[in-house]
Amino acid sequence: MRAAWSPGEATARTRLRHFLDDALSRYRQERDLPAIDATSRLSPHLAFGEISPRQIWSAATGRGHSAAVEKFLAELGWREFSYNLLFHFGDLAQRNFRPEFDTFPWMSQDGEEAASAVEAWRRGRTGFPIVDAGMRELWSTGWMHNRVRMIAASFLTKDLLVDWRIGERWFWDTLVDADPASNASGWQWVAGSGADAAPYFRVFNPVLQGEKFDPAGDYVRRWVPELANLPAKTIHQPWAAAQPPPPDVYPARVVDHAAARARALGAFRTVKKVA
Ligand SMILES: Cc1cc2nc3c(=O)[nH]c(=O)nc-3n(C[C@H](O)[C@H](O)[C@H](O)COP(=O)(O)OP(=O)(O)OC[C@H]3O[C@@H](n4cnc5c(N)ncnc54)[C@H](O)[C@@H]3O)c2cc1C
Repeated sequence: MRAAWSPGEATARTRLRHFLDDALSRYRQERDLPAIDATSRLSPHLAFGEISPRQIWSAATGRGHSAAVEKFLAELGWREFSYNLLFHFGDLAQRNFRPEFDTFPWMSQDGEEAASAVEAWRRGRTGFPIVDAGMRELWSTGWMHNRVRMIAASFLTKDLLVDWRIGERWFWDTLVDADPASNASGWQWVAGSGADAAPYFRVFNPVLQGEKFDPAGDYVRRWVPELANLPAKTIHQPWAAAQPPPPDVYPARVVDHAAARARALGAFRTVKKVA
């Protein structure tokens, strides 16, 4: 944590200036690539009130109205939207925004199987490299790239069928930018229960997401060093490698994605009927 962040108002301002000078022009193209430092990383400073959205907005618009600036402002807009939701729905972190999700058949958390699946997710040992890389980045630094937050949250709620509130709580405990509005709305958006939620049938495939957004595998190599020697072709599906790593080096997959996807879609269909 200490190595990754320096708290304080002065650092927040410096970070903003560096972002506007060095990364903003690449923001639109590269903001979805977790191996590249292309986003502002201002979220912890915003969460602690060390810089305000108005200061950021004003500094960014001072750089003109390029497509890159517009995209960055749009992301700040998501934060405002989340706060607007929280203002009107104070229990956003506890209750489904869409009540039809109240009957959703989440996996019971009583059994050992569910407990060990959640633990594998928390520790970055699911056997899916992009998910594990994200969960380990979170544990080491208190931050996770936005694209990987979406993948990791989709994996918990859809592949593992675990209630989004369990993931929300873990992020709340571990994120250095933990924010009551953005965290709750981010989780509800991914789970499908939120306002303007991702369509229920969108179940991220962690292998394809990894191949698309971490094509060379550099992000996985950084956070899952036991896979560092795998070529880009198999780093997102180590079980397909010529010499797969033994399970005591890197864990076997906790679920089969195709079967898990079918199970999730079945569960979501029950919600659709109620809606
Ligand atoms: C499941 C999930 C949980 C999340 N939990 C949090 C959280 O607890 N705290 C938090 O600040 N963000 C959260 N986000 C949103 C987003 O991931 C982070 O704001 C972003 O990764 C922060 O990095 P950055 O400052 O480099 O972002 P940049 O890309 O540089 O964006 C600039 C600012 O815009 C805001 N922003 C960007 N994307 C989003 C978004 N999708 N939703 C709301 N605001 C956004 C943030 O304030 C961010 O600092 C969550 C997203 C998901 C999918």
